[in-house]
Amino acid sequence: MTVAVGIGAWSRRHLLDVEGLTRDELERILALAVEMRAARAERRHRSLLEAEVVGLAFYEASTRTRVSFELAAKALGATTVDLSVAGSSVVKGESLVDTLRTLERTGVTTLVLRHGSSGAAHLAARTTGLRVVNGGDGIHAHPTQALLDALTLREAFGSLEGVLLAIVGDVVHSRVARSNIHCLLTLGARVRVAGPPAWVAGFEAWPGVEVATRLEDGLRGADAVMALRAQLERGASPPPEVAAWRLDEERMRIAASGAVVMHPGPTNEGVEITADLANGPRSLIGRQVENGVPVRMAVLALVAGAA
Ligand code: ASP
Repeated sequence: MTVAVGIGAWSRRHLLDVEGLTRDELERILALAVEMRAARAERRHRSLLEAEVVGLAFYEASTRTRVSFELAAKALGATTVDLSVAGSSVVKGESLVDTLRTLERTGVTTLVLRHGSSGAAHLAARTTGLRVVNGGDGIHAHPTQALLDALTLREAFGSLEGVLLAIVGDVVHSRVARSNIHCLLTLGARVRVAGPPAWVAGFEAWPGVEVATRLEDGLRGADAVMALRAQLERGASPPPEVAAWRLDEERMRIAASGAVVMHPGPTNEGVEITADLANGPRSLIGRQVENGVPVRMAVLALVAGAA
């Protein structure tokens, strides 16, 4: 059984990054996510992936991504298995590839992998027969986060065409920023990265991306502002001027009137964003989390060839 959304067969058996996906492919994932949201509410497609075993291998901490992939897989009838890295043979020194091949031999068909090394998902796709979905690799990519952000923004604005998202904070260490840039530019939105110079270094070379190193320049005219936390686990050392970049209601007034605020989570309230702003009327943070399950249902169905 397959779910019919879009024209033609989906040809990719992995989702490793957003880079390289066409606008039609991105649109198709978003359309299928909308269908999956309704299906979940109406308890449809509950045996779509009943032949699949989805392995969750999270070598880095995760709340939203891991939980929503598990719920997405279960909503479509797949069996799930959680590697629980800390209690696995990883602590006995087993390599990533050996661990993944073991999962494959035990019957896992689709792997959701989060890993601290950029390129880990590509390695998994190259060295195993598993279908691989990247749940975040180092500073490289976090494709399903970008997809759920795109869906959230599109639903807030009706269309992404010309919408300006300012991504503010530790952009340089952020896989979320990189995947959002690829995704949103392809879908017709505008992207600006903003922060202390060390946190946006190198992005001026990215075609189509605006770079701002002053708060006013970063926020002025933005329809949506996404705050990013300092990626301390990737060696980020917050520059001294970082407090001047904390997003609050007053600073948001520099942005376009009615501008919305986003955050991929986890938020460090009072550090990169105030609690009032994160929980206030401008915030789409809850909607981002809600959109995680249907987006991941769509991705799991597509890579399995069921949609
Ligand atoms: N949850 C996102 C990620 O895994 C953002 C973050 O951790 O700051 O990249």
